[in-house]
Amino acid sequence: MDAGVRRPVHRPRCPAHLPPRSEGDVNDWPANWQLLIRGIGCGMCESERPDADAFGVCVQRGRFSDAYLQRKDIQRGYTVVIWRGRHVTEPTDLAEDEASGYWAEILSVSRALQAFYQPLKMNYETLGNSLPHLHTHLIPRYQADPRPGQPFPLMLDTAAEIPEVRLLAEAAELRQRLSWEPGEPPPLA
Ligand SMILES: [Zn+2]
Repeated sequence: MDAGVRRPVHRPRCPAHLPPRSEGDVNDWPANWQLLIRGIGCGMCESERPDADAFGVCVQRGRFSDAYLQRKDIQRGYTVVIWRGRHVTEPTDLAEDEASGYWAEILSVSRALQAFYQPLKMNYETLGNSLPHLHTHLIPRYQADPRPGQPFPLMLDTAAEIPEVRLLAEAAELRQRLSWEPGEPPPLA
């Protein structure tokens, strides 16, 4: 990067199913990038998508994706929707029905988040710079917000975790709105 170009203070990370990385890594592409974009060593492909894991609690298992309310206490309702199936890096790699289905499932989760958390605005971030497996960060934005006019600063490395009781209670609320129960398999294709 040109030394004269101001770097962002923090680049949003892709928390779901990723091992912790050092803070310095955010200014570099992953060393195994060429392998990752082919799905080799992709943690999101390798994950069995449990009902809960170290990163979050599943609130919806759709035909095309799994949605995890995140454990990190960064922003109320912060949820990651992850494409399920073969490894896909870009949404442009999807067939039309897959793309519309993936987006519809994102909207379904977003409606539940809006109904429960009552944000001022929802943000949808499909990044993949740390892990190039198609996934979308759903980030509610509230009146009290650190940077209302900019992308939300996802300070994942330093954030504490949401207390388990609160996390599970909020996940239960979202699951009820999404009509999904833990252990329920995804709808058949
Ligand atoms: Zn993958």
